[in-house]
Amino acid sequence: MQTKKSVEFFKSIPAKHCSECGETVVEQAESYLMECDRCLSKIEE
Ligand SMILES: [Zn+2]
Repeated sequence: MQTKKSVEFFKSIPAKHCSECGETVVEQAESYLMECDRCLSKIEE
């Protein structure tokens, strides 16, 4: 099934690191984000 295939695809991607602080960024559905939640909330202020 395509769903299983896409899960395996995401698992094969190495953990991303925040471009701001280097913190490991947990993969989300919207995985285009390059900063961790903490830095993202800073940027929005
Ligand atoms: Zn960060």
